[in-house]
Amino acid sequence: MMTAARVPGFPGTLPELRGRLQIDAPLAPFAWFRAGGAAEVLVRPADSDDLADFLRDLPNEVPVHVIGACSNLIVRDGGLPGVTIRLARGFSTIEVEAGGITAGAAALDVTVAEHAAAAGLTGLEFLSGIPGSIGGAVAMNAGAYGGDLATVLDWAEIVTRTGERNRLLGAQLAFAYRHAALPAGAIVTRVHLRAIPGAAPLIAARMAEIKATREASQPVRARTGGSTFRNPDGMKAWELIDAAGCRGLTRGGAMVSEKHCNFLINTGSATAADIEGLGEEVRRRVLAATGVTLEWEIRRIGRPAGKPEVVPTGTREMVVPTGTRETGLPTGTRETGLPTGTRETGLPTGLQETGA
Ligand SMILES: Cc1cc2nc3c(=O)[nH]c(=O)nc-3n(C[C@H](O)[C@H](O)[C@H](O)COP(=O)(O)OP(=O)(O)OC[C@H]3O[C@@H](n4cnc5c(N)ncnc54)[C@H](O)[C@@H]3O)c2cc1C
Repeated sequence: MMTAARVPGFPGTLPELRGRLQIDAPLAPFAWFRAGGAAEVLVRPADSDDLADFLRDLPNEVPVHVIGACSNLIVRDGGLPGVTIRLARGFSTIEVEAGGITAGAAALDVTVAEHAAAAGLTGLEFLSGIPGSIGGAVAMNAGAYGGDLATVLDWAEIVTRTGERNRLLGAQLAFAYRHAALPAGAIVTRVHLRAIPGAAPLIAARMAEIKATREASQPVRARTGGSTFRNPDGMKAWELIDAAGCRGLTRGGAMVSEKHCNFLINTGSATAADIEGLGEEVRRRVLAATGVTLEWEIRRIGRPAGKPEVVPTGTREMVVPTGTRETGLPTGTRETGLPTGTRETGLPTGLQETGA
């Protein structure tokens, strides 16, 4: 794989770390899509001090990425140059307190919701349906069923790219739709979420309702990245995708979900390029059919495996993998639904623990 930024000594010489460090570490096993490339260096710090010390001593020129549960990410097939940080065990504690929950950034949203429910606290039920980590939830202002991080976040502790530790109040994050204004390069390590005493049966009923609604409407057991595109103002992305005839469209091993057409799924053998290329094809078709340019909600990081071409898509220039054509069907895109022998559901994703 490519190496980071021609940094002298990298990755041969790296700062000391108490946690785990792995060179050329595949990321696909962590990703909900089960696709994509490797991290040049994968670092799992032991705790916040370890993370802060490591980043302080890491040369500034080395690119740093942070990943959570990878439920909103496409890691391109050429992988991530530099250092990829994945918070694990030392960041997954959950403490129930009066007025809410303090959780490490690696704690899964669903686990936090379950702890709140067990303690008779209401306000965090919406987290039970979001398959990410708390750090990713802050970064994305994750939300569902009337709740989002913006409404419950009291404070978030971060470590900056230069290894400083700060505590930010919710109001400092200028939350917007699926967006938080975290300082560039900041890694969320711990948060406090507000919740208030509630009736346990009502909390349990709300969580059961969320689960049932999701299972009925989304391919929650598939290899997916959740909603692919943001809902344009006053519109639903899935309705535009449906109107453009993209439901069931395939490219290589990637497919637009038949169940919820704003979800892309890996039917088994998709590369990240298949998934991203299919998303770009959907954008092209929606633009042609409706005049609306969809914006990605899924974040795409890293480098394509092959030689990229730059193809104008809608109003922006996008780097897409070789093999995608600007007009007509990209290589390998099919109009039909599931390839023979593949299923949309029943794939083994489930909820991943980030504390590996
Ligand atoms: C089946 C399915 C259903 C979904 N439903 C919803 C839904 O209802 N509502 C919703 O909002 N989302 C939904 N999502 C998307 C996704 O779960 C959320 O965006 C989630 O918050 C991402 O968290 P993550 O830990 O997986 O982050 P990742 O996907 O790993 O990363 C996403 C972004 O967050 C950043 N990030 C991750 N951890 C940190 C950290 N500690 N500090 C700073 N930045 C960090 C990453 O750099 C990246 O930019 C769904 C996804 C799937 C697969």
